[in-house]
Amino acid sequence: MFLMKVNKLAIFGLLVLSLLFSGCINQQQNIQESSKIGVVVSILPQKQFVERIGGDKVNVTVMVPPGASPHTYEPTPSQMKAVGDAKLYAKVGSGVEFETAWMDKILAANNKMLLVDCSKGIQLMEMAEHHHEGEEHEEMQDGEDHDQDEHGGLDPHIWTSVKNAEVMVENIYAGLILSDPANTQYYLENKNAYLKELEGLDKQLEESFSGLESKKFMVFHPAWGYLANDYGLTQVPVEQEGKEPSAQELVHLIDEAREENIKVVFASPQFNKDTANSIASEIWGTVVMINPLAEDYVSNMQMVASEIKTSLT
Ligand code: ZN
Repeated sequence: MFLMKVNKLAIFGLLVLSLLFSGCINQQQNIQESSKIGVVVSILPQKQFVERIGGDKVNVTVMVPPGASPHTYEPTPSQMKAVGDAKLYAKVGSGVEFETAWMDKILAANNKMLLVDCSKGIQLMEMAEHHHEGEEHEEMQDGEDHDQDEHGGLDPHIWTSVKNAEVMVENIYAGLILSDPANTQYYLENKNAYLKELEGLDKQLEESFSGLESKKFMVFHPAWGYLANDYGLTQVPVEQEGKEPSAQELVHLIDEAREENIKVVFASPQFNKDTANSIASEIWGTVVMINPLAEDYVSNMQMVASEIKTSLT
């Protein structure tokens, strides 16, 4: 009887102690988390940019989650809460629809947050379009809806150029040292190390694409215009102004693929690949997935480049 009581007391005591102790640990973790700089970014590749500069001093929230399209995504309440706690928002800044639709609301949710424009200093290119010589563009005559092109004429996918990524990294760095000047040296060293890696990646891609005879690759959603531009390649888009191609356009695409000896239609996980599949089957080719929004930017770009190169050789 007595022993039982002692045991019960001991167990109760242990329980209380362990609860107190775990509470203590949780509190410490919370303090560590809250001493980090809250940084919000729109798309996943930016997460690597911020984390490679910010290391263990930043806590990054990504607005457009894996598999979602930045052309259509809407933020959740918990993401808006992360915005409310953040010190810095790094927007892509190139006209990504998620930002053109939501930036005002995001900024209104936190008026102390610093806004960085990653596209500052980057020259935007025209969106790749599919033109056929000698053919009038039908919509040129009806005169409607021209301002409502999905991409508004300029290509927002700036991060698919490694050279642009370097500029985006510099812009993020400038924002981080403004938000947290005490750690400037730390950010500077990290930034320089990451830039070195990006410069190496750029050189590697340049070498890998040099001397290719064939330069045209076909892709469902034309996210790779900046990459193509850096290395003298041409992206042939299947989508026409953000929409599925018409039956007639599809016939042209298949003809073009045959003429150019294209054997691969690239698609990405954010979009339906039915059309890519049907073109591929017409040209006895294959569909290969490449992701413009992978989180591990450097290794993804190596993978994408190697897939595109393989398709051209
Ligand atoms: Zn896109």
